Amino acid sequence: MQREKKHILLRNGNPQGNPNNAPRCGAKTRKGTTCRAPAMANGRCRMHGGKSTGPRTSEGLERSKKAHLKHGYYSAGSADMRKYIKQLLRENQALTEFIKEQFQQ
Ligand SMILES: [Zn+2]
Repeated sequence: MQREKKHILLRNGNPQGNPNNAPRCGAKTRKGTTCRAPAMANGRCRMHGGKSTGPRTSEGLERSKKAHLKHGYYSAGSADMRKYIKQLLRENQALTEFIKEQFQQ
C-alpha cells in the first residue's frame, strides 16, 4: 500500500519541493565568485535583489501617498481652501463694516 503525499501549503506563495533545487542568484560577489543563495522571483537573492522600485499599481500608489501625508497643509486642495476662506473673510469684513455704518446712523 502506497501512502498518499500530504499537500502542505507554504506561506507567502512559496512553491513546494526540495529547497536545494531552487534557482540560484548568480550575482558576482565581492570574492569574485557567483552567489549561491536561493533566488527570488526577480532572479536575485535577498542580498542582491536591489532596492524596491516603489509601488506600481494605482492602488499601491494611493496607499503610499496616504501613508506619507503628514498634515496636508501644502497640498493643492488645502491652498485653495485657505484662499477661499481668506476671500470669505474679506467679503464678510466689508459686510460687517456696511452693517456697522447702517446701525450707527
Ligand atoms: Zn545573491
